[in-house]
Amino acid sequence: MTSLRNILAVASECAPMVKTGGLADVVGALPHALAPHGIKIRTLIPGYPAVMAQIGKAKPLFTRKDLLGHPARILAAKCHGLDLLILDAPALFARGGTPYLDESGKDWRDNDLRFAALSFAAAEIAAGAVKDWRPDVLHLHDWQAGLTPVYMQEMGATQPCVMTIHNMAFHGLTSRNRLKTLRLPATGFDIDGFEYYGHISALKAGLTMAQALTTVSPTYAQELMTPEFGMGLDGVIRARASALTGILNGIDTNLWCPQSDPAIKPFSTPAGKALNTQALRAEFGLAESEGPLAVVVSRLSDQKGLDLLLQALPALIGRGGQLALLGSGDRQLEHAWLTAAAANPQHIGVRIGYDDALSHRMFAGADAVLVPSRFEPCGLTQLYGLRYGALPVVARTGGLADTVIHANAAALATECATGITHKPDSVPALTAALTQLCTLYADQPLFQRLQGNAMTQPVGWEASAPLYAALFNRLATDAQEAP
Ligand code: ADP
Repeated sequence: MTSLRNILAVASECAPMVKTGGLADVVGALPHALAPHGIKIRTLIPGYPAVMAQIGKAKPLFTRKDLLGHPARILAAKCHGLDLLILDAPALFARGGTPYLDESGKDWRDNDLRFAALSFAAAEIAAGAVKDWRPDVLHLHDWQAGLTPVYMQEMGATQPCVMTIHNMAFHGLTSRNRLKTLRLPATGFDIDGFEYYGHISALKAGLTMAQALTTVSPTYAQELMTPEFGMGLDGVIRARASALTGILNGIDTNLWCPQSDPAIKPFSTPAGKALNTQALRAEFGLAESEGPLAVVVSRLSDQKGLDLLLQALPALIGRGGQLALLGSGDRQLEHAWLTAAAANPQHIGVRIGYDDALSHRMFAGADAVLVPSRFEPCGLTQLYGLRYGALPVVARTGGLADTVIHANAAALATECATGITHKPDSVPALTAALTQLCTLYADQPLFQRLQGNAMTQPVGWEASAPLYAALFNRLATDAQEAP
């Protein structure tokens, strides 16, 4: 029997308190998933207004007059079953906008300092700033936590760190002129440290210094070693290949449960979805139709390939299919989708915005969920689609490739198919996938068998939680046994 392990998770978002994407879901889910394995996670997040409003009574643990130039407190609070540590630094975090963007959609100019402060606070906690509590291992999520090992080294804290890459596209780059402001040691600014072509890279700091690296799917772990997906850091990843594992994300199967989801009309079979489908058509103002009703729930960014989908859409609409899209982000893409919906309101419905309850209704009502990403570290919406019998039609990349079994002849014959996969970044391939969706849908008994397969796939944390637990245990044991 291994002893209880204390983990400090460090992240810029955590569901359900503050979320812009899948990172938040994973950070919010892991403490619950790992508790049965003897892993106790405290999660350090910034005190954004939304967080401060939700935590209620919090206990101050320590105060700094000058945390990278600003006054700050660390508060402890229990919230939504999570054990939170909150970096309350109003000069850095008491703002509108999103965690990363101001109200006009631009990056906050001091994001480097804001998240360096988060990492600095994490290092202080590792070094013993909280009375009676020290983590055995730190779990760092994405670039916002990447500088933590640099500060730990400066402070003499020696616990092992796990760095999880949720998306390699974001490097946390800033000018070398910021070395002093961020109180980074000039000695670390070189090719083996946190320098990236003359800039400071918070992500690279974590990638080079953490004892273990993980990413959110086995395929993305392989892809990161290639120039095509490594985003300029593939060489760093190749050099650390032996430290890297791909551990697939899960979803919270209590929140995403078609039998008990309060946002929908409950169902347990594909045929039971009908009332939700009817309601979804009505909600998006779509006509009755012969073809499949597909949905997209996504950030609107180049990564997600939704410009490709606009071009391939005639293959779906032309066969009586329909599309309901919920998303926000890139202004041009928002405009392009609104224009497409205005031109064909019977078949295309678009909601610009972020709406969790609506997203549940969409997966419940949909025949298919489309995820045509150019790259996708893991992806969560295809997992919701599987669980709710909305057949995933996905690009064959990253976690999408790891979670959907393509309906080719062999998989159809052996009844193991759970969706349709296609070559990424290709309008002809996406067109062919949409055509196949319509063909499969036309054979309702077959289509419902596929939906049934999808609904029984394991999509929770049952497979991945033990992998994280084993990693944390191994690192903690190695650290204890080190001379
Ligand atoms: P990413 O993290 O790259 O945005 P993921 O698929 O990993 O992509 O996670 C996105 C998460 O955010 C999912 O839980 C998805 O349902 C949710 N989501 C994205 N856009 C919206 C939206 N407009 N409304 C509601 N939920 C959304």
